Amino acid sequence: MTKPLTNLSYIKELSERYGFTFEKKFGQNFIVNPSVCPRICQHAEVDENTGVIEIGVGVGVLTSELAKNAAKVVAIEIDTTLKPLLEETLADFDNIEIIFDDVLNVDLNRLIKEKFGDMRVVVCANLPYYITSPIIMKLLEDRLPVDNITVMVQKEAAQRLCAPEKSRETGAISLAVQYYSVPKMCFSVSPGSFYPPPKVTSSVIRLDVKQENDIVPANEKNMFRLIRAAFTQRRKTFVNSVSSTLGMPKADIEAALAQIGENPMVRPEKLSLKQFSRLSDILIK
Ligand code: SAH
Repeated sequence: MTKPLTNLSYIKELSERYGFTFEKKFGQNFIVNPSVCPRICQHAEVDENTGVIEIGVGVGVLTSELAKNAAKVVAIEIDTTLKPLLEETLADFDNIEIIFDDVLNVDLNRLIKEKFGDMRVVVCANLPYYITSPIIMKLLEDRLPVDNITVMVQKEAAQRLCAPEKSRETGAISLAVQYYSVPKMCFSVSPGSFYPPPKVTSSVIRLDVKQENDIVPANEKNMFRLIRAAFTQRRKTFVNSVSSTLGMPKADIEAALAQIGENPMVRPEKLSLKQFSRLSDILIK
C-alpha cells in the first residue's frame, strides 16, 4: 500500500473513484489522525495471539492497524457500497474478513466461536455514534467470551458509560456497564482527527469484561427493572420515581432504603450497583 489510509487526499480520491458518498445516517466519521489507531490497539492490548472483532470498517484505517498487530480481524460493516473500495485498501492483508451486515443482527457468540475458537478475543471499534448504547448493551448482555471492549464513542457517552459509582454522571447505563464490566476512560480525540469532523469531542474507553459476576441479585431482570424505574425521572428522589413508575407504596420503598442504611430522600445516582441489587431483592419478589 502506497498511501496511508489517514491521508485525506487519498480518502477523497478513493471515494471519487469508487463513487462512495459519506452517509450521515451510518455515522460515518473516519479517523484521519495517524496516531489514533495505534493507540487504540495499545489500549486493547492487541497482539499476535489476539483475535479482534471490529464494528464499522469505513475505508479500513483501524482494520489495517489491527490486522498488523493481531492474529486475525473479523470486521462487521453495514454499508455494502464500501465493498469495492475495501478490496483495494485492504488487499495486502490475508488475516481480515469482512462481514457485510448490521452488527445488531449478528450472532456474535456464534461468530466468535466459529472464527476464533479458544483464542483471546477483544472488540475494537470507532463506533457509529447514533447506536452507541444499543451496541454496547448488546456486546455486554450477550456475555461474549471477550477480554475487553475498547471503543471510540462521543465524550459525553464515554462519561456516562464510565461514570464512577455515585457520581453526577451516573445513569441506568452506567450501572449496566458496571454490572458486566470494569470501565475505564483511555484518551480523548478532537473533532479534527476525523473526516468529516463530528460536532463533538470523542473518547476511547475500555471495558474489561467480567467473566464472573461480583454482584449477584436474586433476579437480574428485577434489578434492571428497578434501575430503569429509578432513572426514568432523573430529577426526582429514588422513592418518588420508583413509586410512580412501578406503582409501589412509598412507605415500602422508604423501609427498604432504611434496611440498607440509606436516607429516604436519596437520589438514584447516589446509590451504588450493590445497593440496587439489595433493594431489588427486598422490593421485587
Ligand atoms: N472504523 C472506521 C469507520 C468508523 S465510522 C474509522 O475509524 O475510520 C463508523 C462505521 O460504522 C462506518 O463505516 C459505518 O458505515 C459503520 N456502521 C454504521 N452502522 C452500522 C451497523 N449497524 N453495523 C455495522 N456497521 C455500521
